Amino acid sequence: MSENGAGQNQHILLAARPSGAIKATDFEIVDAPMPTPGAGEILIKADFLAVEPAMRGWMEDRASYVPPVRIGEVMRGQGTGTVEASNHPDFPVGTAVTGMLGWRRYIATDGKSVSLRKLPEGVSPAVALNVLGLTGLTAYFGMLDLGKPETGNTVLVSGAAGATGSVAGQLARIAGARVVGIAGGSEKCAWLVDELGFEAAIDYKREDTAQRVADLCPQGVDIYYDNVGGDILDIALDNLALHARVVLCGGISRYNATGPLAGPANYFNLVYKRARMEGFILIDYAPRFAAATKVLVEHLNTGALRHRETILEGFDQLPKALMHLFSGLNIGKQLVDITR
Ligand code: NAP
Repeated sequence: MSENGAGQNQHILLAARPSGAIKATDFEIVDAPMPTPGAGEILIKADFLAVEPAMRGWMEDRASYVPPVRIGEVMRGQGTGTVEASNHPDFPVGTAVTGMLGWRRYIATDGKSVSLRKLPEGVSPAVALNVLGLTGLTAYFGMLDLGKPETGNTVLVSGAAGATGSVAGQLARIAGARVVGIAGGSEKCAWLVDELGFEAAIDYKREDTAQRVADLCPQGVDIYYDNVGGDILDIALDNLALHARVVLCGGISRYNATGPLAGPANYFNLVYKRARMEGFILIDYAPRFAAATKVLVEHLNTGALRHRETILEGFDQLPKALMHLFSGLNIGKQLVDITR
């Protein structure tokens, strides 16, 4: 085995179910045999792997929208890679692909079991896993199908400088809305305003978020795109405009909770404002992924949609990358480059 494992197969397994924050010891890195593709299968060498806060839920032993990852099983996750050997007519050697490759360097698969897709021509792994990956598609359906932004709407996005929030906010801006983002730290807030075209950004770690939302959204919030839940959701509910749409995309502030959680105290404002609050799960939109990807590619090509990635290098950095999401160390999409 080479010093860093490159050229050999390695897996990262779930070693323990997390209690509270994820720890490095919740995972185990192991050497694994090089898989051989069978009939109808291909061998993929992964190059970039993505992390998402939802993985914290997949590590728990409870029913959700996907089965939990079992102890000792390879951690589930999206990645990109290249076909190195092929017994599959649709994926010849050299094809760049993306799918749920898992936390491993090499995988032999028929493609179906990992929802394999070819990367569109000219699309980099970073873009494939960011704007055109799970989080970009989530932003697309959550903002456009549930939020339905219109010209002149005021749209508030939390987790705004993360992978999903940054795309969701820009899609609302492209639709003609004025967009206010909530994110942790001045660097993130400056990126939202200076580069992504948000009208304003609130640093929830340093500012009085309730006061700032009230000041920046005097006519109320038409769409609140929620990535975080908790106190920020409550503040948004307190500032709704008539017929507002509250899009429940995620609730990262609750993912590490160990005890009972309080509900949003201000939910009754949904009644006063004749508003709607609705959750969704991306996988339900799978039949529309290709159409959404086409639109996102157009926005990328015109320069209307910008993106950023935070990249750690090294296969063994995957647990750390996942932990980054909970401490807010990522700007845009958190990826891991495992080519070295
Ligand atoms: P991300 O936003 O790129 O990264 C997570 C961000 O959350 C961090 O950068 C951090 O930014 C913020 N954060 C962490 N702890 C927080 C806390 N306690 N309170 C407020 N903010 C906190 O991650 P992502 O992959 O794009 O996911 C964003 C949300 O979308 C997650 O809740 C995820 O579960 C959800 N999601 C839902 C679906 C679906 O189908 N419904 C699909 C994909 C993702 P700050 O520095 O700003 O705190």
